[in-house]
Amino acid sequence: MTETGFDVAVIGRGMVGSAAARHLGLAGHSTALIGPVEPDTHDGEGPWASHWDQGRVTRITAFSEPWGAWARASIDRYAEIEAASGITFHDPVGLVVLADDAAATMATAQALGADVEQLTADELFERTGIRSSVSSHTIIFEGAPAGLINPRALVQAQAICAEQSGVRLIDDAVESVVDGPAATIHLRSGATIRAEQVVLATGPHGADMVPGLDLPLERRLRTIALAELGPGPDLPTLIIDNPPHPALDEAYWVPPVEFPDGRMLLKIGGDSLPVHLADSGDDITRWFRQGGSEEEATALFELMETLLPERQITRVRHKPCTVSYTPSGVPHLERMSDSITVAFGGCGAAAKSSDEIGRIAATIATA
Ligand SMILES: Cc1cc2nc3c(=O)[nH]c(=O)nc-3n(C[C@H](O)[C@H](O)[C@H](O)COP(=O)(O)OP(=O)(O)OC[C@H]3O[C@@H](n4cnc5c(N)ncnc54)[C@H](O)[C@@H]3O)c2cc1C
Repeated sequence: MTETGFDVAVIGRGMVGSAAARHLGLAGHSTALIGPVEPDTHDGEGPWASHWDQGRVTRITAFSEPWGAWARASIDRYAEIEAASGITFHDPVGLVVLADDAAATMATAQALGADVEQLTADELFERTGIRSSVSSHTIIFEGAPAGLINPRALVQAQAICAEQSGVRLIDDAVESVVDGPAATIHLRSGATIRAEQVVLATGPHGADMVPGLDLPLERRLRTIALAELGPGPDLPTLIIDNPPHPALDEAYWVPPVEFPDGRMLLKIGGDSLPVHLADSGDDITRWFRQGGSEEEATALFELMETLLPERQITRVRHKPCTVSYTPSGVPHLERMSDSITVAFGGCGAAAKSSDEIGRIAATIATA
């Protein structure tokens, strides 16, 4: 079966793709949003996603431009998306950054209207129970709207809003895309879609399905660790440069949120040393099937225990995940041919800013 008549087909029903589809629908473009929904288990063939999780840090504080501006623009639209979809995904619990180089970060955040202040180690401990033991760290606290978002819920909300604007959701994986004056998209089910424009928002899979479009993308294979906490002060989200652990390069956490099994779990993740890299989609499949790295999870649990010395911590489980990086450190947003625009490479930071990144991709594809 071949379906035609689409101005734009967005491939990838993740954070950026679903945002792009919402913006395309709002602008009146006939749009298809193509991608599989999350499977019940991670032992299939993929494609895999970066957003299959319950929590992401959201913040205006950014270590470089244009991340701050993208975050500000996206955060300013969270309430509108929540209201239109009826799905709540944002919890402004605040953020602590333990940073090596804080001056530029503070200045950028303040210029964008973020509510940031510097704390002493004692003030941080009194407020949150977090013990910062690295003397070179500057402690930044960012108040609301910084905090957390639920990435699964945001993707669902974007898809609901997109459908309200007439976007057609197609629950299928794309096998290949044939470029041309219009693009032909072959789906795993055997169906074919034709569209004037394609937005490739395929996260860690990059441009795998377009022959000849070989764009550099570093795929880091990571592990997240999940723990239950005993009673204590409410925690903000956290980002830490050079954490006090030899096996970790940087780390973050999202304070306890409810997971699909009903448990309230704090999630901690980051870059481990050495960084595990995938050469192909097959490596990602293997990583998901093996369940990530036990050693990385142990390091993450140990860091959590160092940062929260007075809190009861029960190690619960760990999970695999994958994050994709471009050489420039920002997502690859570019028209590559008459009919193909790429929008991937979230560099571990695109969740909070996905609405603005999707809007920019939609604008490029329809310019
Ligand atoms: C553990 C973890 C923690 C993170 N923490 C943060 C954080 O705290 N704050 C933050 O801002 N960012 C964070 N990130 C980064 C953020 O989640 C990603 O940058 C974001 O999900 C990227 O969005 P995306 O749409 O590019 O990719 P995804 O959300 O991965 O979406 C890509 C979609 O494309 C689909 N797809 C791929 N190939 C095909 C195909 N052939 N056919 C059809 N569909 C296809 C996939 O199924 C998927 O749904 C984190 C990432 C991870 C993994």
